[in-house]
Amino acid sequence: MAADRGSSHDSDLSEYREEPDLPDDRAAGQGRSVSVTAGTRRRTPPAGRHQAPARHAAPVRVAAKRRPAPSEPIPVPVKAPSGQKHRPIAKKRRRRRLILCLSLVFAVAAVFVLHNLLVFRVKDFQISSPAADRQVLSWKSAGGIEAYDIFDGDGELLAEVSAEDGPQYVVDGLKSATRYTYSISAVNSFFGKRLSRAVSCSAYTLPEAVSAMTALNSGTGVLLSWEDCGAGGYELEYADVSGEEKTLDAKASDAGGFSIPDLQEGAQYMFNIRSFIQDGDSRVYSGWTSSEPITAARAADMTGVRVDEPMVALTFDDGPDYEDCTERILAALKEYGGHATFFQIGIRSADLPEKLTDMLKAGHEIGCHTYDHAHYGDEVTPDDILSADDAIEQACGQRPTVFRSPGGMTTDLIRGVCVDEHMPIFYWSIDTEDWKSRNADSVCKAVMDHVKDGDIILMHNVYESTADAVERIVPFLAEKGYQMVTVSQLVQAKTGKPPVPGTQYITANITN
Ligand code: ZN
Repeated sequence: MAADRGSSHDSDLSEYREEPDLPDDRAAGQGRSVSVTAGTRRRTPPAGRHQAPARHAAPVRVAAKRRPAPSEPIPVPVKAPSGQKHRPIAKKRRRRRLILCLSLVFAVAAVFVLHNLLVFRVKDFQISSPAADRQVLSWKSAGGIEAYDIFDGDGELLAEVSAEDGPQYVVDGLKSATRYTYSISAVNSFFGKRLSRAVSCSAYTLPEAVSAMTALNSGTGVLLSWEDCGAGGYELEYADVSGEEKTLDAKASDAGGFSIPDLQEGAQYMFNIRSFIQDGDSRVYSGWTSSEPITAARAADMTGVRVDEPMVALTFDDGPDYEDCTERILAALKEYGGHATFFQIGIRSADLPEKLTDMLKAGHEIGCHTYDHAHYGDEVTPDDILSADDAIEQACGQRPTVFRSPGGMTTDLIRGVCVDEHMPIFYWSIDTEDWKSRNADSVCKAVMDHVKDGDIILMHNVYESTADAVERIVPFLAEKGYQMVTVSQLVQAKTGKPPVPGTQYITANITN
């Protein structure tokens, strides 16, 4: 605008300054076309009117546009000095350059902001926890990134991972079952070394796995125990008799003893356990730990047994007999409400099935004493046991539930077969030596002089002298307040759980 006003001002000046006959008046025009007609006389305006407003010049301009008279000299346009003529164009160029520069700066800033927000922000930042003491951080790599800075939950720089080493970083030496937080930002030195916006993520390390789990028989169930490893809880898994897998939750406080009831008697189970911590709606699990295989015990029928009162287990081997010893013993026990255990021989059981049936009906327990009593100790074969079990089962409809080796000598082979056949093994704490003395007084003395709570007493239901002795021993024990129970009842009463297959008991609390 200033240039425009100047231009008008110059024109006005030239108009007032015109002297038509002066040949050098062109110079006075100062580059302007002289628009005043030569010969036109005009008074020089007073000084005060020199700055006349433009409207006073309007008539002059009109006059200047008149066709000049033929006698008048043709006005010659005055050529302006170079540079002065292009001044407005140069200004426009400068303005364009300025706009261009500003646009460029703006574009660079926009690219930088977009780059920073969209490209440099690390994507898919994830944490996996493969172990109790280790986590693996991973993310999606992006072009133009030179390195990644990883910070811990306190904002301390944990590591700078170069783009070539990424996109993964392993953190070791962590605490189990602990939530760790990390953040990551990409590093690019294009704008000077600066960081992109950090992305955060957190995850738990795995809880410790259970070091070992112990499984014990408990009634018709199994009692599990393990060392609490500081997890929030535990998950147990086992297959039931139909093969269907079952899962149970246990609390940390259950580690000392967790009972799984109602298992099938005699069936074998293996239990798996893993610890977990609850993370919102989901769980973080340790690996599995397995128990040793265990056979669910048969629970003895404890009807009528007073577990806090004294009791003994009368046991009779080598029968059934071909005379009437067994009947006399059964009668004596029946009269006093006592029960006993009969370790019988397979071949005799096959011959005398009614005697075994009578034993079962009366609530006594039937055990295995090998098929024909031919082998002792190391000579006992698996068939000696299995054939006897088969013969007894065929005779009375029930497989033996306990075992006693001929002469009482047991071996690893015997123990192994008994585990498979779900039979605990029974030795004795009082040996009447009735087979040696064949004397009722001697047998009675062996018992009456030594009996105490929890004894297992050895006799044989094949001697008349033993039957004589039993008819005196049973009333004696009853009078002394001893309950007469089966060996399985004795162990369950004294230990709180059924005897364990393959384990040999000397008394309820002593095994070997
Ligand atoms: Zn025997």
